[in-house]
Amino acid sequence: MSEPGLPPGPPGLPTTAAPALAADLYAVLGNPVAHSRSPFIHARFAAQTGQAVRYDRVLAPLDGFEDAVRAFAAAGGRGCNVTVPFKFAACALAARRSERAELAQAVNVLRLDGPAAGGWFGDNTDGIGLVRDLEGNAGVVLRGCRVLLLGAGGAGAGVLGPLLAARPAELVLANRTPQRAAALVQRHRDWAGRHGARLAAAGLDEPGRGFDVVVNATSSSLGGAAAPVAPGALRPGSLVVDLMYGAAAQPFLDWARAHGALARDGLGMLVEQAAEAFHVWRGVRPDTAPVLAALRAEIEGGR
Ligand code: NAP
Repeated sequence: MSEPGLPPGPPGLPTTAAPALAADLYAVLGNPVAHSRSPFIHARFAAQTGQAVRYDRVLAPLDGFEDAVRAFAAAGGRGCNVTVPFKFAACALAARRSERAELAQAVNVLRLDGPAAGGWFGDNTDGIGLVRDLEGNAGVVLRGCRVLLLGAGGAGAGVLGPLLAARPAELVLANRTPQRAAALVQRHRDWAGRHGARLAAAGLDEPGRGFDVVVNATSSSLGGAAAPVAPGALRPGSLVVDLMYGAAAQPFLDWARAHGALARDGLGMLVEQAAEAFHVWRGVRPDTAPVLAALRAEIEGGR
C-alpha cells in the first residue's frame, strides 16, 4: 500500500515524494503504514529544530521486514520507526539495544549506525512517551498509584518497564491470553522490585477493582469493542488512557467517561515517543506541545 496518489514503490523503498538532497533520511516501517502520523510529526520537529531531515513511510512486506530495513539502509536511511507488526522482529535485528528495549524485547526505533559505530541500535520509546504524556502533559503523579495495564503485545511490553520506573504502588498487567501477561511480568519482576512496585499478572475477567490509572494497550478498539474489562476496574475520577486515538479510541473513551473516569487518547503518547526517537537520532529534543496541538487539530478537522 502506498500513499494515496503515489505509485507503489518496490518493497523497502520510500513511497513519498523526494525533497532536498541534503536531508538525512528517516522513515516509519510497518504493515499497514499509510495511516501513520509519524511523517506529520517529524516534519514539524525538523522544521522547529532546524534539522535537515526527510521522513517517509515504508510499507514492509509481512514476510520481508529485514529485507525492507536493509534496502532502506542501503538507500541512505539513517534511522526508522517500527510499527505493527514488526516491533519484535526489529528487536532481533538490532546489534545493540537500550535497557528499556532489552526489557521489552520490542523495538520501535532503530538507529542505523554503521559497523564502525557499533551497528544498528534499537530502542523503545513507547513507554517513556506514555509516562511523559501522563506526568508532563496530563499532570498525573504515577508514584504511589494503582495502575491497570491492559494488553501484553508490543505496546504493552514497551510501556510496562517505564510505567514501573515511575514507581506506582501496584501494577496489574491483564491480557486476553493470561500466559503472555505472566511471561512479561516474570521478565519485569526484578525491575519492579528495584522500583518499589508490586507487579502481578491477570486475565481480563478478574484484573482487580478501583484502579487509579487504567491504560488500554490492547487493540480491542479496532474491532469496535467498547472495553476489554468490566467497569469495576475503574473508580470515580480514575484516569483512563487508550493508546489509540481518533475514531478508533472513541468507544473505549466514551465507556470510561460513562463510568465517571477521566479519559485520554494516545495522541500525546504518540508525539512524546516520537520526540524521544528524534532525540535518539539527532541528539536534540523538540518542543512537543505545538506539534501535539497541530496534530490534534489536523485529526479533528479530518473527522
Ligand atoms: P499487538 O502486539 O498486536 O498486541 C495486541 C494486544 O491486544 C494483545 O495484548 C492482544 O491480546 C490484545 N487484543 C487484541 N484483540 C483483543 C480483544 N478483542 N480483546 C482483548 N484484547 C485484545 O499490538 P500492539 O503493538 O501491542 O498495539 C496495541 C495498540 O496500541 C494498537 O492499537 C496500536 O495502534 C496502539 N499503539 C499506540 C501507540 C501510541 O503512540 N499512541 C504506540 C504503540 C501502540 P492477546 O495477547 O490475547 O492476543
